[in-house]
Amino acid sequence: MSQNITKCALCGLDVEIDGFNVETDAGLKEFCCAGCLAVYRLLNGDKIKE
Ligand SMILES: [Zn+2]
Repeated sequence: MSQNITKCALCGLDVEIDGFNVETDAGLKEFCCAGCLAVYRLLNGDKIKE
């Protein structure tokens, strides 16, 4: 069995915890931690659908 490991959309680390994700114009982005999610929101706030 192999499991797909998602890479953090900001820093590229493996995403080991679900839940740090956001829907954007380019699709769903997933992050490794709340910090990366927060930085992405700051940099790409205009692309986030909410
Ligand atoms: Zn990250």
